[in-house]
This record gives sequence, structure tokens and C-alpha cells, in this order.
Amino acid sequence: MKSSKIKFGRIAVKVGSNVITTCDGSLNTGRMLRLVEQVAVLIKQGYEVILISSGAVAAGRTDFIPPKGTNLISCRQIWSALGQVKLMSNYQFLFGKYGIGAGQVLTTKESFRDRLHYLNMKNCITSMIENSVLPVINENDTISVNELMFTDNDELSGLIASMMDCRTLILLSNVDGIFTGPPGESDSQLITEIDPGFQEIDKYITSSKSQFGRGGMLTKYSIAREIAREGINVYIANGMRDSIITDIISEKNVPCTHILASDEKKNGVKKWLSHSQTFARGMVYINRGAREALISDRASSLLMVGVSKIEGFFKKGDIIRILDEKGRQIGLGKSQYDSEKAVTCTGSRQKKPLVHYDHLLINSKN
Ligand code: GLU
Repeated sequence: MKSSKIKFGRIAVKVGSNVITTCDGSLNTGRMLRLVEQVAVLIKQGYEVILISSGAVAAGRTDFIPPKGTNLISCRQIWSALGQVKLMSNYQFLFGKYGIGAGQVLTTKESFRDRLHYLNMKNCITSMIENSVLPVINENDTISVNELMFTDNDELSGLIASMMDCRTLILLSNVDGIFTGPPGESDSQLITEIDPGFQEIDKYITSSKSQFGRGGMLTKYSIAREIAREGINVYIANGMRDSIITDIISEKNVPCTHILASDEKKNGVKKWLSHSQTFARGMVYINRGAREALISDRASSLLMVGVSKIEGFFKKGDIIRILDEKGRQIGLGKSQYDSEKAVTCTGSRQKKPLVHYDHLLINSKN
């Protein structure tokens, strides 16, 4: 047990809408109970578990039939406002049977962009775990709309697993994993193990989506691959199977796709930056000398003398994209200046670096 606890470490489990809702969208409490039982077993065994659960929007649909002409964004907001309460009361009730307090954490993409919000969220989830309160996380769908939304909760669970230094991420949907063809067809075979460093399996994955969730296998795999590269083992599995979570953790031979973790480890800020591509505010062009220094094996900060042009508006602490003279992005960094100040200091030898090495993520290096 001891070695298995080290192997699986802190565990994030993501439950998709289709696992816990019936075909009309109402919550399938029987299925929720099965999942709760398994999480309870892991907690009793001493594992630290974080649950990321979808299902709010689906659960709210049965409670509100929008009058004709209601805007789709408003419908989703109302459904999630109604459904999230139902989702959480069910989790609280079911975990309560096992003496486990389940607490809600609602988040948005914006909270991952802002380093302070990010750290507040991390501290909150850490304190919950340390005080034996199970974090049950979902996107705050009442305020996350359109481009502010995560692609789906698979993306959210990847960010959470990375932020919380999990060793294991289990993505549960209503299929057993990634198949060599459309799942359900007789000649399609389940791919049980993928080493993303060596295997290219994108050709097998279809872009079809599930009924209520936003996710599909394509996004699931691209998140899984990215997260596995950070040293987290990812399992894509079927949440309709009764003891799938506990079976995976007790290393039983169950149908699922295991995306193998690489040995790579990143520090906290670099991990945050590696998921920040879409949050970047401004663009900074650098000269050849700066490019060479940054991509070399040396630990170099981005100095103002190496900056040739600044584009866009950003505040001190915002994430900026770093591009070479040909406009190719070579990395991301957390700016020590706002854009106005950065423009006035461009080319200067005396000023502090625009991005300190510890807050710099260079594509070819990290
Ligand atoms: N956050 C959404 C919900 O709870 C689901 C997003 C997704 O489908 O991944 O309903």
C-alpha cells in the first residue's frame, strides 16, 4: 500500500456530465453514489483526492424550460445556477453518509490567468485537503461565457491537477478510453497504454462530442498528453463501471487508457506559465542576441537591452508572449513592468529584466 500511495500520490478525479446524468439531464444519484463510495474508499486509505465534477448545466435543464426566444447564454447561466446547487447538495448528502465533508470550489479561466487568484485558489484547495474537506470543483458557468470559458472540464481538471501537484488524473466519461476506431465497432480496439513521447495516436481519435458535456476525446487526449508531460499519470476511463476508480488505483487490469507520465518536473511558476498561452496579454519582440541567450542552456533573464519592440497593453505581473525577430513565439513570461514603462525602457542596459528567469518559460527548454 505504501508504494502504491507514492506512485499514485494526490489524485484528481474528473467526472463528466454524461456519467452522472440520465438521458433527460436529471442527476443519476445511483451513479453518483457509486462514485462517492469509491472516493470515500480512497480517502479512508489515506489518499488525497480532488473531485472535478461537471453536471451543473445538465442538472438545471429539467428545472427551467426557457420561454421561446430566451438567449442561449442566459439559459446556460440559469441552468448552471439552478443545477450547481442540486449537484452540490447531492454530493454533500452522499459524502455525508461516509462522514466526509464535501466543499464547493467554483472557478473561472480568469482565475488561472491572474497569479494572485491562482495562488489563492491553490491555498484554498490545499487548506481544504489538509482539513479533510473534499474539494468538489466546477467551472463557475454563471459567469464564464463564450471566450471566457474553459474548452471543457477536462481542461479545467488538467489545470487543477497541475496546480495541485497531483500524481494522478482520472478522466471519467462514458467510454472505456481511446480506441483504434469508433468505440462500439467490432474491429475497434482499446489502446490501453500510450507513451506520448513516442506514440502518435491522433489519427485514431474522432471529434464527436458527448450529449451534455462540452468535451470530446480530442480535447481529452490533448489535455492528457500535456499533463502527462508534466509528470502526471492520466487515465481515461469509463465512469459507468462500478469500481473503476478503486480498480485503477489498486492496479487491477481494468479497461482504460493510461497515458504515461514523463519524468519531467517543472517549478510552480513554470507550470502555471505552461498553461497560460491563451491568457497572454502583450507581445514582446526580442533581438537575435537575446534569443540566443534565452534558448541557451544558461539561466538567462530577458533583459531590456534585448527587447526591440513592445505590442499591446499589459500590467506588471501579466503574462506576455516573447517573439523573435521573425515573429516566431519562443516563450512566455511574467512581466516585471507594465507596457507603458516597458516601452520607455526598451533597449536600456541599466534597468531590471523585463522577465526574470524564474518567471520565464522557453519553448525549446522547459
Ligand atoms: N461545467 C459544466 C457543467 O457543470 C460542464 C462542462 C463540460 O462539459 O465539460 O455543467
